[in-house]
Amino acid sequence: MIIILLGPPGAGKGTQAERLVEHKGLAYIATGDILRKAVKNKTQLGRKAREYMDQGLLVPDDLVVSIVRERLLEPDAASGALLDGFPRTVSQAESLDGMLEAGKTKIDLVFSLEVEENELIERLTGRRVCRDCGATYHMKFKPPKVRNVCDQCGGELYQRDDDSLETVTERLSVYKKQTEPLIKYYKAKGLLVAIDGNAEIDQVSQQMRAELDKLQQ
Ligand code: ADP
Ligand code: ADP
Ligand code: ZN
Repeated sequence: MIIILLGPPGAGKGTQAERLVEHKGLAYIATGDILRKAVKNKTQLGRKAREYMDQGLLVPDDLVVSIVRERLLEPDAASGALLDGFPRTVSQAESLDGMLEAGKTKIDLVFSLEVEENELIERLTGRRVCRDCGATYHMKFKPPKVRNVCDQCGGELYQRDDDSLETVTERLSVYKKQTEPLIKYYKAKGLLVAIDGNAEIDQVSQQMRAELDKLQQ
């Protein structure tokens, strides 16, 4: 089983993924998280990816595709995976189709999380992330119990470099140009399920779970 989370930056993909993975026991594959880790560890991949990420641009398709190809071969992904932030271009989607044709799994469903632009900007600029475990918070919408401290592990919360207003604006425009065409791509395959992502976190989760439950019947 492969589930894809599609949506603009700030739509709530990571937040919902955290809950869905628990609910479904799927391997969680977030290309943004994998890339940030590579940047932090200054690996070869990280050095190449950084210049694009800092500018709010997409990392080249070949780099991202090989990350996902390798990750899907790990044992925990054998029974299924939740993809967050991949694919982000039509070319990446075509590569994924190629990878899956060769294996035994297929895409079961693509969630398109739809959120108003003003709300996206507020969500992204107020986002805080745990340096140690990666958990996501929001200063206003999902504050930690203690200021700047992660509820889950006690780690320090920080603001991602690319969550500045300037880079957020660029990322939203990159999304429109390069990623939004995927909505049509998956609609044509009959896989797309649109979700109103403007609602509160719990309500969005409920909508998504209901769709997944339908799938299993
Ligand atoms: P994405 O992975 O799509 O970029 P995140 O899950 O990181 O988005 O969410 C972006 C920010 O918005 C985070 O600070 C998160 O806490 C907050 N957030 C997520 N979903 C909602 C929601 N439904 N309502 C309000 N804030 C939300
Ligand atoms: P968000 O959901 O807030 O946009 P992510 O953590 O998914 O952020 O991605 C952060 C950055 O990592 C992107 O702006 C981009 O530079 C890079 N990235 C992540 N996934 C991909 C991808 N599938 N293709 C190209 N670049 C990617
Ligand atoms: Zn933490």
